[in-house]
Amino acid sequence: MIIKTFPMGLIGTNAYLLIDEESKEAVVIDLGGDFEVIKDEIEKYNAKLKYILNTHGHFDHIFGERDAQKIVSVPVYIHEKDKYLVENLPKQLEKFGFVANAEPPKDIKTFTDKDSFKIGQNEIKIIHTPGHTPGSVCFVIGKTLFSGDTLFYTSVGRTDFEGGSFEKLRDSIVNKLFNLDDDIEVYPGHDTKTTIGYEKKYNCYFGSKNL
Ligand SMILES: [Zn+2]
Ligand SMILES: [Zn+2]
Repeated sequence: MIIKTFPMGLIGTNAYLLIDEESKEAVVIDLGGDFEVIKDEIEKYNAKLKYILNTHGHFDHIFGERDAQKIVSVPVYIHEKDKYLVENLPKQLEKFGFVANAEPPKDIKTFTDKDSFKIGQNEIKIIHTPGHTPGSVCFVIGKTLFSGDTLFYTSVGRTDFEGGSFEKLRDSIVNKLFNLDDDIEVYPGHDTKTTIGYEKKYNCYFGSKNL
């Protein structure tokens, strides 16, 4: 599996491109900016984009998705509890002080943590991790976890936005993510990679060395 990181958009959000070399299937996780660079990369590998998955519905993670759909016909998936955020993209932009000139994506499909996705033969599992938003999720493929704005390198996502809850975030991280294997690599929605084992120790909010 090829994993490429593209920091992009209004506030430097990581878009991730996954390509399964065998099946030539590609999946994008969170598309907060210009699709062109990712499109070029997909073409370079002769791959085909299957779907866009979202860790949550904040504007900086979905901003480029409608434009991408004008180039490739592809559905956008979001946890059912964050669908309203995707539909309210212009309102979100306004709230954060940006010009509300982006269209929300079309063909929005919802999932719960009982669902899963596939890229080639690989299963993409869903862990519902509410706290940053009600419908925040992490995606797991083998030893790789995409954590969105739930878990960052030595930090965690903000919970002071609409629908946020620090108690829920704590439960999601301590009781769900920290039960995963230490050697799982964490690809967050912003900034640099980390691992579950490292965060269990050194996370500034919930790490054992900081309690
Ligand atoms: Zn967010
Ligand atoms: Zn974000």
